[in-house]
This record gives sequence, structure tokens and C-alpha cells, in this order.
Amino acid sequence: MVSVVFSYDTEEYQVPWADEATKVWADLLTKHNLRGCFCIVGEKARVLRDRGRRDIIDALKEHEIDYHSNLHSVHPTHAEYLNELSWDDGVRRCLMEETTGISDLQDIMGQRPIAYCKPGSSWGPQVAYCMSILGLPIFTDAPVEFSPGQPMWFCNQICLKYHLSFEQSMDTKNRFEHMKKNFLKIYNSRTDGYLIMYSHPCRMMASDFGDGLNFKDGLNTPREQWIPVPQRPMAEVTAISEAIDLFLGFVANEKIPVVTYQEIHEKYKETDIWIPLETALNILQLVSHELTYHHSGSIYLSPAEIFGIAAFILDGYNHIQVLPATIPVRRPIGPTEDCISEAPTQVDLDTFLSCASQANQTVSSNHRVPSVIDLAGTQISPSDFLKTAALLIKNLHQFSEPIQTIIIEQAKSLPALAEREDFKNMRIGGWLMTPGFQADNVVAMAKRQTWTAKPAVPMNQR
Ligand SMILES: [Zn+2]
Repeated sequence: MVSVVFSYDTEEYQVPWADEATKVWADLLTKHNLRGCFCIVGEKARVLRDRGRRDIIDALKEHEIDYHSNLHSVHPTHAEYLNELSWDDGVRRCLMEETTGISDLQDIMGQRPIAYCKPGSSWGPQVAYCMSILGLPIFTDAPVEFSPGQPMWFCNQICLKYHLSFEQSMDTKNRFEHMKKNFLKIYNSRTDGYLIMYSHPCRMMASDFGDGLNFKDGLNTPREQWIPVPQRPMAEVTAISEAIDLFLGFVANEKIPVVTYQEIHEKYKETDIWIPLETALNILQLVSHELTYHHSGSIYLSPAEIFGIAAFILDGYNHIQVLPATIPVRRPIGPTEDCISEAPTQVDLDTFLSCASQANQTVSSNHRVPSVIDLAGTQISPSDFLKTAALLIKNLHQFSEPIQTIIIEQAKSLPALAEREDFKNMRIGGWLMTPGFQADNVVAMAKRQTWTAKPAVPMNQR
């Protein structure tokens, strides 16, 4: 059965009259006993507080509060600054700036956000990673999902795209019929997973986005010079809210399941697990053929998690000369820089094992797959290391006398998902950014983080 999420990018903070639309949406959902997910910009929460809109804050208490960045479109946006920084500097800056927004949101709304929604087209894998650190495990309006309506893990967040907007029906003749037709077209085409239907509450009252007027093409219009967004005529606002009322009534009457991001998290969250050696051997056998996520039974592991398992097993062997019987699954991020292996080589077992111990330490201490593995002065890539390690572990398991000379295997440097259309053709830019801006560095980092990607599997199927 398909579940629906109603998701609201609550961002227009430049004009006070647009605040009202958020209350109309919250009240309409409450009227039909439906819970919406309001992804609120930090600055929007602050202006609601400063404008004394306790009524709106109270109306939102019936719904889920989620996060939509601290300042939305103020430049430099995430993609703009991340493109100039290393992975670690990007993470540092993002944590610094976004912690303010999240904590203000929580203080003002009295709810801890669970999902993060990217502002416009601006994002980076470091933002996803930061949000997971800050306790927001869901990434909505994400640039990737496993398949239409099916969630996927990426950078330790559960990612889902947006699928349908209310906006596309707002300027049509028969708004309610248009909404219903568009909704049923997608809803009936899926058998399970999610349909995320979204809106920007302000668009009920405004005929455009304030961002387009004040932040387009890299422009940072000072607050005192903000151009107000054009207001819709009152009759139009009324007609739109009536159509939404009818649509929400239709969803409620049809008993279509409406869920929140919190419920999605409860269904898909992962707890710390450890796996038996047998399961690890099955998965390592698979990864020696292809660098991608793999599963054994219902346990799905990302390439980064598989790397952590291989390093743990070899570190154990290095110290006690037996393969450990159980292996913890750690959730490292992928390599943060590219590495092209130097000439294919061979090394003795002790050298390889001591490198494996170091790699294992990096996974434990730095929560990441190392970008480069130094084999006694020769650099090899983590993908070559993993393929070699997988074959070595198989050998150690099969034979009582360990092989003494290790031939370094060669593997593709990026996981197979990096070649999938969504990652392969990924672009970050658009009308908000300075003309010609392309976040190529951010895109390259996103492709590297396919090391963290795997389908999200519900807990009751694990
Ligand atoms: Zn937005």
C-alpha cells in the first residue's frame, strides 16, 4: 500500500502577510484529522516569534516540525560554499551555521525536527552528513531515492524525493479536479512506498517566490530593500484554499494512509548490529565481483559498511590469527578524496594486514573509509584494497596455511550507483546561483559518497 506524506516548504519570511498561509494549511489539515510535515526555515521560525504569531506556532503543534535550512537562499548557499571547500571544512561550516537554525526552530516550535528538506536546488553530500550528525535522519526533496517512492540510505540519511506539487494545480481552472487527477495518476501507478505531495504554504497567497525577486542570480538584496512578493487577489486565495479543503477531505474520506517523516524513520531506522562471519563471507564474495551495496538474506550493506567489515576481520586476524566469529556493522562515510592506485603490485601478508589494521582504525576513529591506503610506500585506492581484502579473507577462511604473497586486485574506483542516471547526470546550479555556476566539486563528492548508498529496508523485513 502506498502511503502519502504532505510536506510543506515553509520559507517565505520577507513579508508578514504570507505567514497567514501557513496557518490556513495547518488548520485545514487539522480539520481533516491529517498530519502535515512543515519543513521550516530557521529565519521563518524567528520571524513568526518576533511578529508575535503565537497563533500560527500553536496551529503547527498539531503537525510535525521539520527543517528547511537556516536562511534558505541567502548567498553563499550550501552548494556555493561547499564547492570551494574540502569535505572536512565543508562539514565544519555547515555544522556551525545550521546548528543555529535547528536549535532556534526547536526552541520556538517546541518540537525536535526529524527531517531535512533542501532549500531549492542547493545541497551537498556534506549537508546530508551534517544533518545525520545533528539528529535529522530523513532527507526529503532529496536529489536521489532508490526508485520512485522507495527510500534509500545516502550519507547516513534516509532519502526520498518530492513527487507531486500542489502548486501545479493552483493556477488551473478546476483546481480540485486537477489535484485529484494528478494525485491518483501517481498513487495508482505504485503498489507500495511513498508519494510525497508538497507545497510552499506562501504560494496559496503569493503568485511568485520572494527568492526569485531578492536572491536570483547570486543576488543578496539587503533586508531593508527586499522587494515584496506579489499578492494573489483575495478571491483567488479563497478559491485555492477551498480546492485544498476539498482535496484533503477526499484523501481523508478515502482513508488513504497519510504518514509523517517520523513514521518513515520508525519503519526504516537501523540499529547497531553485528553479523556472523558466514554472512560477512557471503557479502565479501559478492563485493569481490562488483563494488556496490550487497545483501545476504535481509541484511543490506553499503560499500562503506562492507569495507568496515573487511577491515575489522583482517585487523582481528592480524592480532589473533583467527577470523572473528562476529563482526560489528559500522556506518562510515565513503572516501572524501579521489585516489588512483599506483602500479599494480604485490605485498607480503604482514604488510597487508598491518595496513588493514590502520584502515580499521580509520573506520573506528574517523568514521570514514580512508581515501588512500598506503601499502609500505605504495598508494592504493580503497576499492582495490576492498577487492583484495575480500579475496584474502576467503583464502584465510578456506586454507589453514595462509597465503604469504598478496596480489593487489584492481577494481572500479566508484561504486556502481555512481553510474546510475541520477548520479551520472547530477548537476547542481540553477537560477538562484550566480550565472554559470556549476558545483562540479560538490557533484564529485556526491558521487564518491555512493559508497554510503543502499536501499532502505523496513525493520519488519529484516
Ligand atoms: Zn524552499
